[in-house]
Amino acid sequence: MPRPRKCRKVCAMPRSNRFVPLYGGCSEEIVMTVDEYETIRLIDLAGYTQEECAAQMEVARTTVQGVYNEARHKVAEALVYGKMLTIAGGDYDLCEGSANPCGKKCHTFCCKKEQAKER
Ligand SMILES: [Zn+2]
Repeated sequence: MPRPRKCRKVCAMPRSNRFVPLYGGCSEEIVMTVDEYETIRLIDLAGYTQEECAAQMEVARTTVQGVYNEARHKVAEALVYGKMLTIAGGDYDLCEGSANPCGKKCHTFCCKKEQAKER
């Protein structure tokens, strides 16, 4: 029997899951999974190390490293080529509204400073 894939803990869905260039975009679309998005949020925005990010998402650090690298590559492609970016799918368990949230403000995030104070 195949081993079930371990779900990655994600605090909340992104405020917007579709990003489209205003000018000069190309018609291709990139799909970033929700767990990939969460690594960008935790590492690039909230300042977590990969170890801290792995603990928060309840997966191994090597797993986070792979997910994060993939996420960064997708962001780069969207920025450089003007591709549309959609955030959808992936293996994850949502904190928000679950029976056992992680307790770190598991809600949809606001753009006002909140991120820095989260820890
Ligand atoms: Zn949470």
